[in-house]
Amino acid sequence: MNETLVQVRDLKTFYPIRGGFPRRVIGQLKAVNGVSFEIPTHHTFGLVGESGCGKSTLGRSLLRMQPITSGEVSIAGRDIRRLAARELKRARRDMQIIFQDPYGSLDPRFTVRQIIREPLDTHRIGDKHFRNDEVFRLLEVVGLRKGVADRYPHEFSGGQRQRVGIARALALKPKFIVADEPVSALDVSVQSQVLNLISDLQKSYGISFLFISHDLAVVQHISHEVGVMYFGKIVEQAPAEELYARPLHPYTRSLLSAVPKPDPGAGSAGTIVKGDVPSHLNPPKGCPFHPRCPVAKPECAVREPVFQAPAGESPTHKVSCLLYE
Ligand code: SF4
Repeated sequence: MNETLVQVRDLKTFYPIRGGFPRRVIGQLKAVNGVSFEIPTHHTFGLVGESGCGKSTLGRSLLRMQPITSGEVSIAGRDIRRLAARELKRARRDMQIIFQDPYGSLDPRFTVRQIIREPLDTHRIGDKHFRNDEVFRLLEVVGLRKGVADRYPHEFSGGQRQRVGIARALALKPKFIVADEPVSALDVSVQSQVLNLISDLQKSYGISFLFISHDLAVVQHISHEVGVMYFGKIVEQAPAEELYARPLHPYTRSLLSAVPKPDPGAGSAGTIVKGDVPSHLNPPKGCPFHPRCPVAKPECAVREPVFQAPAGESPTHKVSCLLYE
């Protein structure tokens, strides 16, 4: 078993909701509400859920790009919450992010060379010649020609731009990368190329990834373990093979029913979960999924389920649902 690289314990990231006149705090948006998980070295943890479930906030909280309300985050043995500014800058060499939008995440005023070299410049790694050589090496690693180094982002396709974003994320040889919906803005034909690249990098360089997506199909082949997030919490978590072979939570099953089947004769994909994500101003009592759950029972509106491995299941397969208590 690989050693633990990322350890998250009861992480909470809340935002005040302001309203009324005069403006005052009228509630709390519990974007991440008590999440715990671990990512071993050389592993990819897939985090899946609908838009607004808190998965991007969770990813950014781990890198301290969002203020954390409470809980513990340890990455490569460092307690991320307690790092002073200088220590945090040093720690950022070990943890990077790939953004969703390859159009918005690259500064249009800079060439690809400047964009990829920027983290090396900031951390004063090597001299000018070393940094330029590194740019060429990184371009090669992500499948781009050296000759594109002096072009600007607008001269590239979406897939190429995402490769540039990945090269920049790799520049400091990180141990951990948060990939926040890295393929959702790309054409379907390009998505698999970028997914294959990330998978190859994970294997070749032994990087650990938190791979965030709204699409269970996208994380299936790239993840060792998958967590399904709903309304700020992980509601099901299991090794990837197990989760896809035997989904337990009604929400996971609904998400999986929306995944298109490769065999046209196997029937059409189902519909994505019906109804809207609940309001943070008026969160449902009991199980937060009960207003949308197709198999809810009266008790679900009263009692909140415990996140645990059900009797008879593997201890690594946990779910938060009263059907299994
Ligand atoms: Fe559905 Fe009830 Fe399970 Fe919640 S606890 S997922 S409402 S069956």
